[in-house]
Amino acid sequence: MSARLEVVAIDGPSGSGKSTLARALAARLGWRHLNTGAMYRAVTLAFLKDGVDLEDPAEVRDALSRVDLRMEESGQGEAHVYLGEEDVSGEIRGAAVEGLVSAVSAIPAVRTRLVELQRIEAQQEPLVAEGRDMTSVVFPDARWRFYLDASVEERAHRRQGDFQQAGRQETLPEVVEKLERRDALDSGREHSPLQWVEGVERIDSTGLDAAAVLALVLERMQGPDVNEAEGRREEHGEGTP
Ligand code: C5P
Repeated sequence: MSARLEVVAIDGPSGSGKSTLARALAARLGWRHLNTGAMYRAVTLAFLKDGVDLEDPAEVRDALSRVDLRMEESGQGEAHVYLGEEDVSGEIRGAAVEGLVSAVSAIPAVRTRLVELQRIEAQQEPLVAEGRDMTSVVFPDARWRFYLDASVEERAHRRQGDFQQAGRQETLPEVVEKLERRDALDSGREHSPLQWVEGVERIDSTGLDAAAVLALVLERMQGPDVNEAEGRREEHGEGTP
């Protein structure tokens, strides 16, 4: 068996609370937060800007080779995504990207490229990596793996809250419809679908707030592994958030 990676891998559908959990957990452990959904969103934005025909493999390949994607964390632990020199962290959250991202992320060439980048990140430093195929495909050897879920009503409420903060007004039925559509595409695709796989800890966050989910995950991580992680954080002189 290959060595366990210093990675906490988290998968789950939209609105399940993955990003909130991953951000808090990364801050707690002093590890890097890798939001792989943001990577797929950034490639989608690049394709939209280039007017790429997703049905044309040569055009997709060309456009992909031009994508200059960079993920950085600000001092406050906020994840920023850059295309070239441009910070696109806000733009990738818009409706245009959201409407197309599942189609773009179903393209095998796109996945191959991004999975490669994600694995390079894990070689550089310990990660809390969240997405749709972290536990199943990208980091099956992660030391900890979680599948986060919640009822569709609760997930839609959370998404609507995110949208309102970003100035996007959408009714709850609209949010539910888009969320279910995206989940169906992400779970039904041929390559690396969103799925729960054997050995991954399931967590249902319905009715739980962010602090309760974090506490639950930390509890499940108890044991020599998490102590090791905490020890390393202290060695590096990082404070407890
Ligand atoms: O997590 P977020 O909702 O930002 O992800 C946006 C989209 O990116 C998902 O709906 C999915 O299509 C794609 N994605 C993926 N694999 C990942 C992360 C995200 O296909 N590991």
